[in-house]
Amino acid sequence: MFIELTDVLRCPADHEEGYLVLLPDAMAGRDVTAGRLGCPACGAEYAVRDGVAEFGAPPGWPTEPPRLDGTGVAALLGLEGPGGFAALVGGAAADWQAVAAAAEGVHLVGVNPPEAVRPAPGLSVVRSPVFPLRQRSLRGIALGPGYGSDPAWVAAAAGAVLPGLRGVGEGSGEGPERSLEPLGAAGGAWVARRRRQSPPGSA
Ligand SMILES: [Zn+2]
Repeated sequence: MFIELTDVLRCPADHEEGYLVLLPDAMAGRDVTAGRLGCPACGAEYAVRDGVAEFGAPPGWPTEPPRLDGTGVAALLGLEGPGGFAALVGGAAADWQAVAAAAEGVHLVGVNPPEAVRPAPGLSVVRSPVFPLRQRSLRGIALGPGYGSDPAWVAAAAGAVLPGLRGVGEGSGEGPERSLEPLGAAGGAWVARRRRQSPPGSA
């Protein structure tokens, strides 16, 4: 886990988001390989084990291979220039190396990636029952099968994108999510832009 990721993680417990405190036990360069993340708000502690931030068991979506490859995800997100973070959720993280190659200098966060995907330079891995990143903390999100049609994951992921930037998802999830402006849908995937202001009546 990239040490600076600490700033964009949120406690997965059901309370207002606040910062987590990192207590590293072992580092490899700028990556935390072992340690703990503590929540000052509720007192919860989460382990960083083998470089993976462990917030709890992921939702048990049926495992479906993603339709979009990493090159397609990178093209739809339109990440230009280095810096910041982008999240790849579930199957969308399977081809993270292609996203990394197309978006050089953007740190990728694999949230509940396939088992074969391990932390690496340029990729942090988080396992969590709920979307674990803070509001307005990301340059882009890609939601794999299952996640891209789940209203709670779509809403939380949309909130984590910086206004004006994009999310892509597999499934039909962006429909009722009013913080997203749909840009298009094709082949079972959607692409949308985070609205700069929430429309009236939305949370
Ligand atoms: Zn907490």
